[in-house]
Amino acid sequence: MTDLDLQGIGMTSRRTRERMIARLREQGIKDERVLEVLLATPRHLFLDEALAHRAYEDTALPIGFNQTISQPYIVARMTEILLAAGPLKKVLEVGTGSGYQTAVLASLVHQVCSVERIRPLQDRARQKLQRLKIFNVMMRHSDGGMGWPEQGPFDGILVTAAPEEVPEELLEQLAIDGRLVIPVGGNRQQLKLVIRKEARVFETRVLEDVNFVPLLSGTIR
Ligand code: SAH
Repeated sequence: MTDLDLQGIGMTSRRTRERMIARLREQGIKDERVLEVLLATPRHLFLDEALAHRAYEDTALPIGFNQTISQPYIVARMTEILLAAGPLKKVLEVGTGSGYQTAVLASLVHQVCSVERIRPLQDRARQKLQRLKIFNVMMRHSDGGMGWPEQGPFDGILVTAAPEEVPEELLEQLAIDGRLVIPVGGNRQQLKLVIRKEARVFETRVLEDVNFVPLLSGTIR
């Protein structure tokens, strides 16, 4: 990958990215650390070349296997909510997908553990992160509805596919004061924030309506 690929030209240039950041501000994203990381992260590299020119539009786009790269607004919003109480050490991401959200998280927290159920997507994401010299991400091919018990507890958990209900396993793997950001629901989905106040005390806040691919069980090789 050349420097030009990384910086982007034309529809992937710095100016195009700056326009995306301006839109995110208008949409209410306030955390400067998050905006800075979104400006610096080359979203076009996480897409097929044929779609790269649309990378800085505020839309979800296909990444194969019936999955999508999350829309920049939702990546920014979920990251902002996750980080709102201060810096985090260890974060679990469920649904690596393209690896874009993973790259954003990796720039803002100490260690990211990311699980994906579709092997080829995970392989592609791993290559992208290596090329960007992001080394603080561990990946596992598994059903992330189970979390990653061997690596827990986590200060933060971010889920990028929607289950019908919040999985118990994820709650169990949250550290005290840990924060879980997760879309929940079938036809109508809502973004929820769950904070573990004490060992058995969880506070849930409903944030906004969202639209994610479903969290599915099992794995694909
Ligand atoms: N943050 C990703 C979003 C990808 S879409 C991005 O911006 O690219 C959601 C991803 O969750 C898909 O890759 C899908 O395969 C994955 N997924 C769905 N159910 C899962 C599960 N139970 N465990 C792990 N990954 C899952």
